[in-house]
Amino acid sequence: MIRYDIICEREHQFDGWFASSDGFDDQVAGNLVQCPVCGSHNVQKALMTPGVPAKANRSSEPVGALHAPLDPRARAMAEMIRKLRSHVEENADYVGDKFAESARRIHYGEEEQRGIYGEATIDEAKQLHDEGVEVLPLPRLPEDGN
Ligand SMILES: [Zn+2]
Repeated sequence: MIRYDIICEREHQFDGWFASSDGFDDQVAGNLVQCPVCGSHNVQKALMTPGVPAKANRSSEPVGALHAPLDPRARAMAEMIRKLRSHVEENADYVGDKFAESARRIHYGEEEQRGIYGEATIDEAKQLHDEGVEVLPLPRLPEDGN
């Protein structure tokens, strides 16, 4: 399985797991990959932008939209998010797109109490919240996936 960072036409970033690079293309072609934020099917792999010095990019075009300005506070925040993510990834089970199902099962005691993380749509997350299931969105960082 390969994890890809994916970005939609409105620059929402999310990730997904695919059997292979072809698997990704197939799923996109079949409109099976959907932005969890805006529901768009117009998605592509988020390209990492390795080794492009910011100063070389003099044009005012917003090409660097993936780069957040890194003042010290933003950096501290990014560090915190990164720690939170790695903590979750170390201590919770990845359940992929079965997240809503598993979270509900655990909530209702049908499955052993444990930490899980995975993919859920906004609707699923809202529904879980309405049922009193605690769901914590994991913020993504632009530089994730390095
Ligand atoms: Zn989107």
